[in-house]
Formats: sequence, structure tokens, C-alpha cells
Amino acid sequence: EEKKEIIKNAIRGIPDFPHKGILFWDVTTIMLNHKAFQYTIDLFAEEYKDQKIDVIAGFEARGLIFGAPLALALGAAFVPLRKPGKLPGEKISEEYKTEYSTDKIEMHVGAIQPGQRVVLVDDLIATGGTLAAGINLVKKAGGEVVEAACVIELPFLKGRDKIAGTKLFVLVEKE
Ligand code: IMP
Repeated sequence: EEKKEIIKNAIRGIPDFPHKGILFWDVTTIMLNHKAFQYTIDLFAEEYKDQKIDVIAGFEARGLIFGAPLALALGAAFVPLRKPGKLPGEKISEEYKTEYSTDKIEMHVGAIQPGQRVVLVDDLIATGGTLAAGINLVKKAGGEVVEAACVIELPFLKGRDKIAGTKLFVLVEKE
């Protein structure tokens, strides 16, 4: 709990980003603080160390930053879930709707083998649309979605409901 408090205190809220009226939770200040960054990875690794995880799949952009060190801590592979047009190889994709637009995430073919146990990682769950798309993508590849992990949850947006059926592990809740 003390670790979670240190992580929580390292997150800053920036008003009116990216649009007026939105309070943006900025996790770059976790990464400035070695203790807070280490505890974030430690708490995730603690949750998954005995769960035989084969793959950590991290969302561009900030899910890559938390996901890669978690994969190393667990001795798992790391797979990036990227925005359209970034991955060079053959890929599969999944579209999803956001408040303002239709978005898409992509993953390399062959990055996840059928039957592999996968945890998805992102910095924050809001409406759950991003995570839901990632879960579908991993399942398309034949992966077994074990759980999703986020540093921050905004419970009032009920993102958990959108990924019902997938367990969600979070470190910090924000209003
Ligand atoms: P969702 O798809 O509505 O759950 O939105 C989550 C996605 O938007 C994640 O990839 C987050 O990185 C990003 N996001 C939304 N709001 C914030 C925020 O306040 N801080 C950081 N990322 C955010």
C-alpha cells in the first residue's frame, strides 16, 4: 500500500489536455522517479510471477514503457500493439470506436503463438475501448488472455464492464 501511495503521488493531472475540459493523467512523472517506476514494475511482476505468463502485450505509447520492463522481470516475451502503419511486417488489426473517432491497433503475425498465456498492459483504462480491442487482437492470434494490467483506472467510466470476462489489475484509481 505504501508503494501504491508513492506511485499515486508521482502521477500528475494536467487540465485541458488534449481538449478543453479533459483532465489528463500524466505518467511521465512516474518515470522521472526511480522508486515510483521500480515499484510499478515490481507490483505488476508480483501479481504475475507465478502465473506462467508467456507474453506481455503493451499498447503504444505508454503501455510499451511499462510493458517491456515487466516482460524482462517475468522472463516473458514482449509484443507491441501499435498504431496503424508503424509495424514493418505482416500484421493483423482490430478497429475500435473512441469518443471522437475510429481507431485501429496492429500486431505482427506470429508475435503470439496459439495457446500462449498473455497479459495486456497499458498506462490507463478509461472507457475500456482500447483494452477491449487488444483483447480481441490477442484472441484472433490464438493467445489466451490471462489478465489486463493498468497503472490507473478511471472507475466512473466503467471500462471494466467493456472488458467483462477479462480480469483487470490496477494500481491507482482516479476520479
Ligand atoms: P479507453 O480506450 O477509453 O479506455 O482509453 C484508454 C487509452 O487512452 C489508453 O491507451 C490511454 O493511454 C489513453 N488515455 C486516456 N485518458 C488518458 C489519461 O488521462 N492519461 C493517459 N492516457 C490516457
